[in-house]
Amino acid sequence: MKKQHFETDAIRTQTERTEFLEHTSPLYLTSSFIFEDAEDMRASFAEEKERNIYSRFTNPNTSEFVEKICHMEGAESGYAFATGMAAVFSTFAALLNSGDHIVAARSVFGSTHTLFTKFLPKWNINTSYFKVNETEKITSLITPQTKILFAETPTNPAVDILDLELLGDIAKKHNLILVIDNCFATPYLQQPIKFGADLVIHSATKLIDGQGRVLGGITVGKKELIREIYLFSRNTGPALSPFNAWILSKSLETLAVRVDRHCENALKVAGFLEDHPQVNWVKYPFLKSHPQYEVARKQMNAGGSIVAFEIKGGVEAGRKFLDTIKMCSLSANLGDTRTIVTHPASTTHSKLSEEDRLQVSITDGLVRVSVGLENVADIIADLDQALRA
Ligand SMILES: *Cc1c(COP(=O)(O)O)cnc(C)c1O
Repeated sequence: MKKQHFETDAIRTQTERTEFLEHTSPLYLTSSFIFEDAEDMRASFAEEKERNIYSRFTNPNTSEFVEKICHMEGAESGYAFATGMAAVFSTFAALLNSGDHIVAARSVFGSTHTLFTKFLPKWNINTSYFKVNETEKITSLITPQTKILFAETPTNPAVDILDLELLGDIAKKHNLILVIDNCFATPYLQQPIKFGADLVIHSATKLIDGQGRVLGGITVGKKELIREIYLFSRNTGPALSPFNAWILSKSLETLAVRVDRHCENALKVAGFLEDHPQVNWVKYPFLKSHPQYEVARKQMNAGGSIVAFEIKGGVEAGRKFLDTIKMCSLSANLGDTRTIVTHPASTTHSKLSEEDRLQVSITDGLVRVSVGLENVADIIADLDQALRA
């Protein structure tokens, strides 16, 4: 399909219609597809024609979802997965050999960190880390075995920003594959391929679904790399279900309006917190006080839905804050219509030592707010009463 504006592509990129001329895309709940005859079957398996064979390989609903994300990210090709972690794991497993090396930002999603430290080393694939504020050290970590440079931006949960242009330049100079997890920003706010990323990964579970319903993941980018990821995945089975693909493709139709409102609400929440006497500091990419504000302005269209702040009083104050919250949810998800608050030091990151937590900017009083789509006055009122208590 011809590339039009972002919102238009998100709505008008579609599968072919059946004889019933459905307005919205039909759901293709079928595990396999049939062949006309022996020759059709031979040619299909020989990949002489592009067609659906089996839903572990491709399905019209997953293809529609992949095509939309490719349009949005400016990517050549992609493959959709059952979860964001299936996308992360399959991308590394498909592209790396035993002995290969990864250089990654230290602040990465918890399960990605576990993959790097616990599972990839089983196949002799090891990772070296740089802190988000020490990007000048990246080059010194690169060895002849380094194949992939990996980062997330904004980071979870501290909302730090990494300079995509800088990472793109380093990857190009050292002939590395630059892989960016773009989950927090969504393709509506940030397109890493423009800055030199070779592959972009999403947990579609977060803002892409945006309504807390289904799990999903996707990797998009350079055709020859996606081909390897596709062959690995087609034979190992992490495929996205057609039903979830149908949900996620529908979700993309409203991504722009949802993310606009998330950002508008989040900026107001960040402003409110910045003035609050119970708060030490606030981090939000589009607040002037953010240490990487200029970089955020360069590479993002708006600040996103996540606000981090430090409550006065450390771990105890953080726990009390969660216990006093009335409307906002205590949940592990983010990017939902519902505002979610978490206190990493006593929950998601409680197993880390204080020193390790500080390495990834998680102080004892750090609270992460995934700002939702409720009326912002109600969100602020709930945060305010919990901060006062
Ligand atoms: C949630 C998340 C993932 C993992 O996605 P799942 O769909 O939960 O498997 C990966 N990266 C980031 C940045 C995330 O927030």
